[in-house]
Amino acid sequence: MRCPFCGAQDTKVVDSRLAGEGDQVRRRRKCELCGERFTTYETVELNLPRIVKRDGSRVPFDGQKLRAGMMRALEKRPVSTEQMDLAVARIQRSLMSSGESEVPALRIGELVMDELRQLDPVAYVRFASVYRHFEDVAAFREEIERLERQPSPEASRQQLDLLNDLESGD
Ligand SMILES: [Zn+2]
Repeated sequence: MRCPFCGAQDTKVVDSRLAGEGDQVRRRRKCELCGERFTTYETVELNLPRIVKRDGSRVPFDGQKLRAGMMRALEKRPVSTEQMDLAVARIQRSLMSSGESEVPALRIGELVMDELRQLDPVAYVRFASVYRHFEDVAAFREEIERLERQPSPEASRQQLDLLNDLESGD
C-alpha cells in the first residue's frame, strides 16, 4: 500500500492482528522511505450491490422483491418453497461475492432466469416473457422452440399449452 505521508509505493507490514470482533484485521505499516507508521483495517466486503434501473436510478437490492417475482413466476408450479428459497440464496450469494457496488437490473434478471431455467421451464418462460419484453408472438415462440430442444416431454407439453394460451389471446 502507498504511503499516505510521502506517497512511496511500498510500505511494510510490521504488525498484523485481529480487531473488532475478529472480523477485521488491523495492520501496522511502516514506510521504508520516510519512516512514518500508519494503520490499515481490512474487512470483508459482503454488501449487496445497489441496483441500477433502466432509467439510471439506483435502488437498494431488495431480496423480498426478488422472491416475490420468482414466486409469481412459479405460481401453481411443482416447485417447493425450499427450492425457491435456495435459488434466491444462490442469487444473493452470487451478488455478494461479485464485489460490485452497483449491478444493472438486467443482470439480476439474467440470474433469476438462470435459476428458473433449472427449476421449471414454464416459470422460466413466464418470467422471461415479462422480463425481456418479447415484442411479439414470434419472438416468444423462438424462445420456446429454443427451450424445447432440451427439456423433458412433460415440460415441452406444458410449454406448448402456454403458447396456445398466448395465441388464443388469453
Ligand atoms: Zn513515506
